[in-house]
Amino acid sequence: EIRLERGGKHFGEVEVFRDLDLAIPTGQVVSIIGPSGSGKTTLIRCLNGLETLDRGIVHLKGVPVLAGTQETATIPAGKQKRHLLEVGMVFQSFNLFPHRTVLENVMLGPIYHNRAPRPQVEAAARAILGQVGMLAHENKYPHQLSGGQQQRVAIARALAMEPSILLFDEPTSALDPETVGEVLRIIADLARSGRTMVIVTHEMKFALQVSDRIIFMEKGRIQFDGTPDALRDRPQHGDRLAEFARL
Ligand code: ATP
Repeated sequence: EIRLERGGKHFGEVEVFRDLDLAIPTGQVVSIIGPSGSGKTTLIRCLNGLETLDRGIVHLKGVPVLAGTQETATIPAGKQKRHLLEVGMVFQSFNLFPHRTVLENVMLGPIYHNRAPRPQVEAAARAILGQVGMLAHENKYPHQLSGGQQQRVAIARALAMEPSILLFDEPTSALDPETVGEVLRIIADLARSGRTMVIVTHEMKFALQVSDRIIFMEKGRIQFDGTPDALRDRPQHGDRLAEFARL
């Protein structure tokens, strides 16, 4: 379980959110939707420490692992680092290492962190590449792949670290329309396998299909938090959420 308690974050004059509470139990698949600029990306980047919170505490499995800069509690750097390794992230723009092959990209994390002897890391990497349908491309470089294929490798790379939680930051919004489907299928497979996942997405139909829970954020506030069924059954008031849910 990952839990944000009283999270607050601003950039200069812009307050992204304040007093935000969010708990995601183990095994849950949560999609975060909402208009551009509502703070979705910032929220998940704060969950894995890519952004620092001003206020609030992030707990992982009940243990405080990250604290806002204005909190009195401090968390030892070693503990923060371990936390970061437990949270996998898939970015909008893949962020693969351009001069490394597909297989090397997937192996780098576990090798760097001494997870296992090299032959074992390699075997595990191949198994994961098989899972995302990219084993046939293991010796290619990122520039030889389509966006969808690169994103599948990026997912494999995140999985190779055996994260307890996987965060996706708009994983299909930089893709050509024809490759969106293949990436969504992989994410849907992972969702069905019982992983804890948080997906920031504009793909409403997909979110409704794969998620246990949908969170609608607007202007830094959680305006809706419930099951896809509850969202569908919600009276359509012509508000922003209704607009979104129709997409
Ligand atoms: P989108 O769907 O467009 O990605 P979002 O809901 O993910 O939007 P965020 O990217 O979290 O929203 O942005 C929330 C607010 O914080 C916006 O007003 C944005 O301009 C601002 N913001 C985000 N990152 C930074 C930054 N590094 N520096 C300054 N302002 C930022």
